[in-house]
Amino acid sequence: MEKNIDRVVEILDRSHNTVVVTGAGISTEAGIPDFRGPEGIYRKLGENRVMKIINIDFFRNNPLEFYKFYRQYFIFPPVEPGKAHQVLAEMEKAGIIKAIVTQNIDNLHQKAGSQKVIPIHGNGARFLCQERNCRSVHDSNYVNTYPEVIPRCSQCGGILKPDVVLFGEHIKNYPDAMDRILGARVLVVIGSSLTVYPLAGFVKEFSTFTQYLIIINKGPTPLDHAAVVKLQEGNTGELLEEIFEKIKKRRKQ
Ligand code: NAD
Repeated sequence: MEKNIDRVVEILDRSHNTVVVTGAGISTEAGIPDFRGPEGIYRKLGENRVMKIINIDFFRNNPLEFYKFYRQYFIFPPVEPGKAHQVLAEMEKAGIIKAIVTQNIDNLHQKAGSQKVIPIHGNGARFLCQERNCRSVHDSNYVNTYPEVIPRCSQCGGILKPDVVLFGEHIKNYPDAMDRILGARVLVVIGSSLTVYPLAGFVKEFSTFTQYLIIINKGPTPLDHAAVVKLQEGNTGELLEEIFEKIKKRRKQ
């Protein structure tokens, strides 16, 4: 383990273009469950049920059932960024990482102070009016205190949709995310099962032409064999802190 950490330190210290990809696993230590981990939402609710309901067609055809489910499981309680989010923000300030491409909708990277964040699945704290000529934005506080199950726009009464990518919708920031990942010298994946496309496809493509893929993930991923280092034990926030401290120490020498 120590040898692997030292290898990560060496690679990150030498790289001038490191990009980080994060998934739901980076936020579990902050208190938000992931989908596919041992405590994940899929295990609790069943993958098919989640995919059926958190789907754009289901939302359009049955907003009442959609919101009954979404309100219960997908409007996260307000939580603070974990150590992993904080260390990544510090690493960006120190010039060690260039950008974070995230699948998460919890805004914890932005809250921790990371500047260059590319969210590809949207923002779970925003809700958009679906009326074409309105499109007003509302926050989760508005939705949480709305007196009915289906939240409606304060301006026109239109139905609000979470500003997140539901199953059946295209990801956001596609070109930016792809350019960042494929243009990176080193890619560090943290807390993603690497099973959600197209992001998993970008990482796979990256791994076919460079050896510098690092994976920090508790569970297995289909690209473990392609990683120069895979770290899977311990607390991820503490692991990142150790890596950061060691890079700072090297740079002082
Ligand atoms: P995933 O749930 O498919 O995989 C998470 C991975 O993280 C698992 O392999 C798990 O073993 C690992 N993991 C769990 N805790 C960890 C920790 N402390 N340190 C390191 N690894 C840990 O996540 P995904 O690949 O991001 O895909 C899930 C989808 O669900 C995404 O599209 C995302 O939008 C959405 N989602 C987001 C949130 C969030 O915003 N916090 C939460 C749940 C789901």
